[in-house]
Amino acid sequence: MYEKSKVVELCQKIEKEGLVKGTWGNVSIKDNEKVYITPSGYPYDKMKEEDIMVIDLQGNVLEGFRTPSSEYKLHLAIYKKRDDVNTVIHTHPTYASIVSLVKEYIPPLIEDGVMICGERINVARYGEPGSWDLANKAVEALGKNNAVILKNHGLVTVGENEVEALTTSIVAEKTAHIYVEALKIGEISELSEEDAKKLRYKYLTSYRQKR
Ligand SMILES: [Zn+2]
Repeated sequence: MYEKSKVVELCQKIEKEGLVKGTWGNVSIKDNEKVYITPSGYPYDKMKEEDIMVIDLQGNVLEGFRTPSSEYKLHLAIYKKRDDVNTVIHTHPTYASIVSLVKEYIPPLIEDGVMICGERINVARYGEPGSWDLANKAVEALGKNNAVILKNHGLVTVGENEVEALTTSIVAEKTAHIYVEALKIGEISELSEEDAKKLRYKYLTSYRQKR
């Protein structure tokens, strides 16, 4: 039950942060072989622990009386590829979505974004929502980073726990906002590849929040 309450709490937080509108977006937490995931098309402000679905890594429903999120394949594909990841958050924030329309990635710009999201935030090639195609393209573009933007769609962030995944969502959207605004006023001064690598390394080896 502990994981279910953490999923409910994440739903409240992504809504409060303005990362989703309506019922779009989805959240999951993995615990061993079980994935606790939001139900499809259910309002975040009404979400209770009993609404959270439990599925296995093949997508079979183990517990719950609703339908798992239509993006469950995206969540499973990430968990299968990244054994350091225990939380996946998919949202539809404004600025990450804008970037997805005009750029192939966000270059290394600001300290916090590079540290927690990765040296750059890639935009995955377009895939139909809810498909394995979208899931595989997202995993490919995510690589070893903690954030990836879905083309003409939204944002996915991951973390070793729910705190890291949520902070990554907030920082990734802030980075996208900064990028969109900076593009309007002049030439962007990116961090060098070397400086970006150093920041990410520092985060992974000493800053990372533990459970
Ligand atoms: Zn979506």
